[in-house]
Amino acid sequence: MRTSQYLLSTLKETPANAEVISHQYMLRAGLIRPVASGLYTWLPTGLKVLKKVENIVREEMDRAGAIEMLMPLVQPADLWEESGRWEDYGPELARLKDRHNRSFVLGPTHEEVITKLISFELNSYKQLPLNMYQIQTKFRDEIRPRFGVMRGREFLMKDAYSFHLSTECLDKTYQEMHAAYCRIFERLGLDYRPVIADTGSIGGDASHEFHVLAESGEDDIAFSSHSDYAANIEKAEALAPAGERAPAEMGISKVATPDVHTIEELCKFFDVAANQVAKTLLVVGECEEGDTAPIVALVLRGDHTLNELKAEKIAGIASPLAFASEEQITAAANCDAGSIGPVGLNITVIVDRSAAHLSDFICGANETGFHFTGTNFERDIKDYTVADIRNVVAGDPSPCGNGSIEIKRGIEVGHIFQLGEKYAKAMGAAVLNDQGKNQTLTMGCYGIGVSRIVAAAIEQNNDANGIIWPEAIAPFKVVIIPMNMHKSHRVHETAEQLYSDLKAAGIEVMIDDRKERPGVMFKDMELIGIPHSIIVGERNLDNAEVEYKSRISGDKSTLKIADVLEFIK
Ligand code: ATP
Ligand code: MG
Ligand code: MG
Ligand code: MG
Repeated sequence: MRTSQYLLSTLKETPANAEVISHQYMLRAGLIRPVASGLYTWLPTGLKVLKKVENIVREEMDRAGAIEMLMPLVQPADLWEESGRWEDYGPELARLKDRHNRSFVLGPTHEEVITKLISFELNSYKQLPLNMYQIQTKFRDEIRPRFGVMRGREFLMKDAYSFHLSTECLDKTYQEMHAAYCRIFERLGLDYRPVIADTGSIGGDASHEFHVLAESGEDDIAFSSHSDYAANIEKAEALAPAGERAPAEMGISKVATPDVHTIEELCKFFDVAANQVAKTLLVVGECEEGDTAPIVALVLRGDHTLNELKAEKIAGIASPLAFASEEQITAAANCDAGSIGPVGLNITVIVDRSAAHLSDFICGANETGFHFTGTNFERDIKDYTVADIRNVVAGDPSPCGNGSIEIKRGIEVGHIFQLGEKYAKAMGAAVLNDQGKNQTLTMGCYGIGVSRIVAAAIEQNNDANGIIWPEAIAPFKVVIIPMNMHKSHRVHETAEQLYSDLKAAGIEVMIDDRKERPGVMFKDMELIGIPHSIIVGERNLDNAEVEYKSRISGDKSTLKIADVLEFIK
């Protein structure tokens, strides 16, 4: 590409109202232009990056066995009425009418359309499992569009939907998608963390978000410095710094007797008002060699309701622990779950949402695999939820007992869900199973914010001069900057020769053939963030050399002209 025949559109000044660095640089480097709030035009350079991200996502989805398709942005309201989301979705759902007064929506996501399609297309278990995806524009009427394409109203998403007849089958595809997402973010060259996420209003059994670490991220995520433990702490629950944590007002503990079966009964037993209970800890203490005794402790704080508590149903285990004395339990109960380590009880919190009775989780915690023992962490990580770590602060021991908790800001770039039967049931998606009986499908869905990734990549890779693209998504791999090419025939010839050689070798190369001062060219190319620069100048040509500069390391060197192609490849 020749800059003289291109739309470079760089800006010297930082535009007003661009709060985060990626938004500023996307405007300044000529990647995007605003059209209206949350709506952007992708200029040629921006589009190149977007397409690269899109292609990596596509390649990895294909590799993982998902099949590409394309659904319409505009969807009939009937489908949303059928799923119940016409009512539930709220004002983020843009609704419109056609000339016949029929209602439509601009799709913020596509569960309805795909599930309806599948209900017609599939009829036998033999056609399962199936995983379909699209890379397509979404519209969400965000209450506060901001940070440029990071939170746009119109944005590009990769959304995949998988269909199964069993949870095991769904789980397998879910793990495959999890692995595919890891490959995608690794290929993109981004520092990311998969974290356990709240399933929120969508419901379902399992959910992970993928976050790119960046100060400007809108979510707090917590992860262990030494293991895979990670979870998203919802924004609403923004953590108070360690020193400002509200201390537990009061803690009491007693050993729960076997005739206490519910949290209500437990409260009665402890003679406390239900709404004083902040947390119930199940402490499994080792009484004698290999023998464990469940002990229940209530943490009282007065600012939680029992309903919240019931939703969390936190159980904890202590290990190693010779015997949990009244004092030890009281000490534990006085602390937040994450701070229990320092008082000598290495307590791990686990949550079992299915436990309706205390006895359920007492048994559960005693069962192998239901509590953390250091070796079965993989299994246990699934038992942690966002709720576990709401009270954890940076520096606390990790609930998995491995390393300590780090809390950082993250940008949500991907989100995967096990949806279960919710949509399939509502939209009548069923097939004949191997017994010849009609059976409702179970579903997973897997989203990636393709356009948001472009902004997230910049948040993570920049300096005072501009963007520093990871090679995999750079708009051009190399730029040739000829110094005073319009005055020097030698410079002109060498630059043109290198340009055509690199192009012929299939390398994405830009030549800055504008009649600009070298300083202007350097500034523009640094701002745009092209990984490699070849600077052609009179002086070096005497030795048949050019100057090379890396945008990533900042390293400079001289290269023999004859070696340039090999070096860049
Ligand atoms: P957020 O919490 O940022 O609002 P979300 O949880 O509502 O995102 P999902 O429904 O999980 O988003 O959609 C899948 C992915 O689409 C997200 O992980 C994110 O990367 C991307 N995405 C969601 N909303 C936007 C938006 N307004 N602009 C750009 N990308 C978005
Ligand atoms: Mg959202
Ligand atoms: Mg979210
Ligand atoms: Mg999400």
